[in-house]
Amino acid sequence: MPLAIVQTGHPVLRADARELSRDEIKSQEIQELIELMRETMRAAPGVGLAAPQIGESIKLAVIEDEAGEKTRMSKEELEKRERKPVAFHVIINPKLEPVGDDKVDFFEGCLSVNGFAANTARHKAVRVTALNEHADEVTIDATGWYARILQHEIDHLNGILYIDRMYSTTFTTVENKARYWD
Ligand code: ZN
Repeated sequence: MPLAIVQTGHPVLRADARELSRDEIKSQEIQELIELMRETMRAAPGVGLAAPQIGESIKLAVIEDEAGEKTRMSKEELEKRERKPVAFHVIINPKLEPVGDDKVDFFEGCLSVNGFAANTARHKAVRVTALNEHADEVTIDATGWYARILQHEIDHLNGILYIDRMYSTTFTTVENKARYWD
C-alpha cells in the first residue's frame, strides 16, 4: 500500500528535517521506509519523493525518472528539458551546490501541492554530495531535468517548496496549464 502524501499547509513540509546517522540508515526501519517511499513515488506517479512528504522529518529522498511514455511528453519536449532516464536511487543528508551561473525556466509541480504547477527557475547544473541507502558517500553531477529534480527534492528536506521560488503569476491548475500555457 502506498503511503499518504502530505499536502501543503502541513507543518512537516516547512520544517528543516534532521540528518540521519550511518547506523540509522542501515536500520531495518529506514530500509523499509525506502521501499515504501519507492512504492509511493511510483504509484503517485512522481519522479521524486522526499521523506517530509510522507510525514517523516528526516533528510532522505528517493528519485527515479523513466523519462518515457508515462511522462506524456513528446520526444521534443523531453529534449528541450534535457530530460533523460534516471535510475532509482536514494539521497540522504544531501548538500547541493550550483555549477555555473546558468538558470533555466520550466513549469514544475509537486505531489504536495497537488493539481497545480508554475514556471520556476532552477540552476541548470548542480553538484550534490550525499549518502546512499548503504550509507556510502556519493557525488552526483547533474544537468537539465535531473538537476531540477535534485533541487526540488533537496528543497523539501530544508522546508522549501517550489511555490517559494516560482514566478507567482504563472501559478496554474494542471488543467489550465494544458489549456493556456503548453
Ligand atoms: Zn515536491
